[in-house]
Amino acid sequence: MMAAPENRLGMLDSVLAAMNMGTVVLDHTRRVLVWNRWMALHSALAAEAVIGEDFFSLFPDLAGKRIDSAVTQALRDNFPSVLSQTLHKAPFALYVNDAARDADERMQQAVAVTPLTVAGAARMCLIQITDVSVAVTRERLLRDQALELRSQSYSDGLTGIANRRHFDVAMEKEIRRAKRAGTPLSLLMIDIDSFKAYNDHYGHQQGDDTLIKVAGALARLLQRPLDLIARYGGEEFAVVLPEMDTAQSLAMAETMRAAVAALAIPHAKAGHADHVTISIGVATHDAAHLSEIAHLVGAADRALYSAKHGGRNRVAMHAD
Ligand code: GH3
Ligand code: MG
Ligand code: MG
Repeated sequence: MMAAPENRLGMLDSVLAAMNMGTVVLDHTRRVLVWNRWMALHSALAAEAVIGEDFFSLFPDLAGKRIDSAVTQALRDNFPSVLSQTLHKAPFALYVNDAARDADERMQQAVAVTPLTVAGAARMCLIQITDVSVAVTRERLLRDQALELRSQSYSDGLTGIANRRHFDVAMEKEIRRAKRAGTPLSLLMIDIDSFKAYNDHYGHQQGDDTLIKVAGALARLLQRPLDLIARYGGEEFAVVLPEMDTAQSLAMAETMRAAVAALAIPHAKAGHADHVTISIGVATHDAAHLSEIAHLVGAADRALYSAKHGGRNRVAMHAD
């Protein structure tokens, strides 16, 4: 048999002092009986200052709060509680270290309140507090990373506008919405003119810079929340314009064409112009004629083809 420690109370004191969590015991009248070293360290209140004191006089801001009723439930009803961490992140004025105290950044806490039955004494209650700051920080980091990854998976790495996947999702949604609401849906397919020659002459790096500038100029023109510009392919963009009829989408296309021309980015090898230009194909379908994405994309593509054939730097409309 193992030898019982001769000084059992002394051993329990050492255990309490060594514990890596806050340990508080309240008597039946809510006076502090135990206040371990962890509590003293993180609250900056020495045990001598709190032992024998009324707990809720020491922490007046906790009176009437969840911890107050948890203590009542433990002492009166013999009922244990674990405080929900999402609702009660930092009930006690505890700080990981002095720097956090100076910055008034409380430790994130997990709190459990448990009734204690001791022979020959009125019921007491044990409050256990664990520092979960690290876990909470890690959780926040993971959540931020997940959000960042999700936004990355929907945006184009070079230009920052929506990518093809985002376009597909938005088009599905807008087609359904247009059918339901009985509103038209317009699509612009945009292609930079003579861009292969631009790359050949100015280099791929400058080509990328120009792509970014063109995307930015186009994106700035979209004001309504559901309008979307996406990078559809290499130097091609698609613009989704919900609730726009033929006349409105033609006007938007013309504004976009003019905006890119106005950038006046020199293009010595374009042939049809001395600066960078775009061609745009416009397709509008009314609610009754909307079917799948490919149908609208096909119509806008044919219009783009005729804009190219018509001499570039122009807008063309599909005519079925
Ligand atoms: P067109 O007026 O008929 O559109 O002529 P084009 O030369 O623009 O047409 P084409 O589709 O033959 O060439 C597109 C070129 O766009 C090919 C490639 O050099 C360039 N391109 C595509 N993606 C990128 C990119 O991400 N960065 C750069 N710098 N160039 C790209
Ligand atoms: Mg192209
Ligand atoms: Mg092109």
